[in-house]
Amino acid sequence: MKISENTVVTLNYTLKNSDGELLDTSVGRKPLVYLHGVGGLIPGLEKELKGREKGENLHAVIKPEEAYGRRNDNMIKVVSKDGFQGEGEIQVGMRVRLDTDQGAQIGNISKIEGNDVTLDLNHPLADVTLHFDVDILDVRSATDEEISHGHAHGPGGHHH
Ligand code: ZN
Repeated sequence: MKISENTVVTLNYTLKNSDGELLDTSVGRKPLVYLHGVGGLIPGLEKELKGREKGENLHAVIKPEEAYGRRNDNMIKVVSKDGFQGEGEIQVGMRVRLDTDQGAQIGNISKIEGNDVTLDLNHPLADVTLHFDVDILDVRSATDEEISHGHAHGPGGHHH
């Protein structure tokens, strides 16, 4: 069976950046299980996987536009240090949660100056070209329930 809309795919992946540094891997942990075609993976990777079958290996190079996007200066916010009371000592490089009009976002503290804390809310992988090595372990038809929920069930998938 080929990977297409409404298939559930099990795969192992290793993700590196252009310098060959390891960013993430499922190897030695649990394989990734996802429902294809509903945006479960970054668009560039779903595109590369479409039409592939169980047992195939692929190397995919995905540009930021098809992955986590470009860094955006509007995602840099300066907030008051008072907002962090009760969270202990804050430091540059720390990852914190910020409640915004668009809901909670995770940011990285990039600067602290007096009472001004600069938060970078860009995705850590924004601007990064992703190099994936993927082993496709299984491809099966999604169940009606999985399609209506928009995610995979069973081993490696969602449990309700
Ligand atoms: Zn479900």
